[in-house]
Amino acid sequence: MLNELELTGRARTHVAQHDELGAALHPAVVEPFLALREAAAREGIELEICSGFRDFAAQCRIWNLKFRGERPCYDARGNIRETATLGAMDLIDAILGWSALPGASRHHWGCDIDVIDRAALPPDYRVRLLPEEAEPGGVFHRLHRWLDENVARCGFFRPYREYRGGCTPSRGT
Ligand SMILES: [Zn+2]
Repeated sequence: MLNELELTGRARTHVAQHDELGAALHPAVVEPFLALREAAAREGIELEICSGFRDFAAQCRIWNLKFRGERPCYDARGNIRETATLGAMDLIDAILGWSALPGASRHHWGCDIDVIDRAALPPDYRVRLLPEEAEPGGVFHRLHRWLDENVARCGFFRPYREYRGGCTPSRGT
């Protein structure tokens, strides 16, 4: 059971850094993730973590970059949204489509993991984690189809696969 500080990203007493995985994670998800990675490797998919545990300050940095217009906001389809003309409340709504409010990100818990398929990357490809990458023809289409069929057997769940209110589908937080 996580305490209030851990749940909101203000402590990291519930996670440990795994240099080999390039992320800090809650100990309960390390073995399941290694099992998932091994299963993926058998299919030629090289699971690589691009974001595991994120603390409040890291989430706040992402948020502030978007709020100040220094990092783009996207609509549900993954197209860049013009935000310069939005009022504060609409801008907050736009950011929340893709980025949880600091203190409310699942990444604070250390069990939410964003992954890419390293083996699918063309040279010099810049990962954007946008819906078009997961769609047919997209660089991670095969990865996403494989994850859909296989994450549950390692105990994982894709909270943003379908729109349930809050963050946009096929994207993390
Ligand atoms: Zn995420």
